[in-house]
Amino acid sequence: MEKTVHIAVVPGVGYSHLVPILQFSKRLVQLHPNFHVTCFIPTLGSPSNATKSILQTLPSNINHTFLPPVNPNDLPQGTTMESQILLTLTNSLPYLHQGLKSLAKEIPLVALVVDAFSVEVLNIGKELNMLSYIYFPSAATTLAWCFYLPKLDEETSCEYRDILEPIKIPGCVPLHGRDFLSIAQDRSSQAYKHFLPFVKLLSSADGVLVNSFLEIEMGPLSAMKEEGGDNPPVYPVGPIIETETKSGDDANGLECLAWLDKQQPCSVLYVSFGSGGTLSQEQIVELALGLELSNTKFLWVLRAPSSSSSSAGYLSAENDIDTLQFLPSGFLERTKEKGFVITSWAPQIQILSHNSVGGFLTHCGWNSTLESVVHGVPLITWPLFAEQKMNAVLLSEGLKVGLRASVNENGIVERVEVAKVIKYLMEGDEGEKLRNNMKELKEAASNAVKEDGSSTKTISQIALKWRNLV
Ligand code: UDP
Repeated sequence: MEKTVHIAVVPGVGYSHLVPILQFSKRLVQLHPNFHVTCFIPTLGSPSNATKSILQTLPSNINHTFLPPVNPNDLPQGTTMESQILLTLTNSLPYLHQGLKSLAKEIPLVALVVDAFSVEVLNIGKELNMLSYIYFPSAATTLAWCFYLPKLDEETSCEYRDILEPIKIPGCVPLHGRDFLSIAQDRSSQAYKHFLPFVKLLSSADGVLVNSFLEIEMGPLSAMKEEGGDNPPVYPVGPIIETETKSGDDANGLECLAWLDKQQPCSVLYVSFGSGGTLSQEQIVELALGLELSNTKFLWVLRAPSSSSSSAGYLSAENDIDTLQFLPSGFLERTKEKGFVITSWAPQIQILSHNSVGGFLTHCGWNSTLESVVHGVPLITWPLFAEQKMNAVLLSEGLKVGLRASVNENGIVERVEVAKVIKYLMEGDEGEKLRNNMKELKEAASNAVKEDGSSTKTISQIALKWRNLV
């Protein structure tokens, strides 16, 4: 009988940094059933219902353990979401060290795979003599940007957003500094100062597994492979996405699927800003009125407004406010034949795979992006925070599968612009081109994960390397 190969994984904090590494673990044990994965989960406050339900779906060769939760009140008030994620991890390190050390005494752990936001854990892996990898749940473009940032930081004296020309990162679609990660928008901030050493740490990994595939990001993936580069080996293993959305609170979700069943093929625009993206009150009103003006069918996942584009809901359990009160007066009544508004956790995978859905207005989170690619749904790109603007550039300017909504001088997408991009995507020739490009990408995504596909072969290559260590 083949020996069991044990590895440990450490996700980042928050649902959308847990799901990708669990999905990778599932894919690994599905392709290589003699592997066993132990997942150590750092948490801030209590885990959300979505987190709890996804853990119930794990096969028997993946087990998990929650590290003692960090109390949100123990973190400095007013810190950015990225800093909260990093600080939670830092506070969890002693428990993680203890957990990994005791597990390594019991069983031969050969490798450690950590989320990009948990990069500090690499040091523990090295101390315990395990090969240590990063699981990078975002685009290869973002990874290439991370590897390039220390050089750019050395060479640049002004803010990146003030550089007039787009910046050419090897292999990537040229990017304006204003589209860089939100953390790099203020180089004098504490957050950016913490981020730089963190980015440099990425290079100390034995390898980086990235949730992308050759056909979607050939440029950056080839550039990172080039001889003489000082980044570690990069392994494209994606697209790895959920096959079904699990939700703790299904009534609203089931209702929206029943509503979709009654609509014409490709007629509905799905609108969602991810697990934690939020709009201002003013922007909610403009979006609502733009949807109304477009006269297009829509399914909108509505969250309460916030002045910051990422809500607290991103990291912790849900709260119970009546979100519909934030819609313009009479909107629901006027659009009752046209639209459906969902305020709970939406069954996104089932929505994107539904044949009534013809477009996705998205904040361009990488998971949502890959889910849309896998289901062949073209996009309106409406990035909010983190690396979403870089994804939007890749999707609209590089791959030409999305149309970017323009913001006014106050950062608002006005109702007329909303209606315009919706009409372009859902009705115009431009929309048709994007739809066709997306079809091709869907095909390539499906090929990458077939038995002889590029990403499947890459996972097998890593698995072989780990197996040989037992
Ligand atoms: N998601 C969902 N229902 C919702 C909101 C989000 O199923 O109502 C899922 C979505 O399918 C994706 C993830 O949550 O898998 C969001 O990840 P993404 O990287 O797109 O954005 P983030 O939440 O990290 O900003």
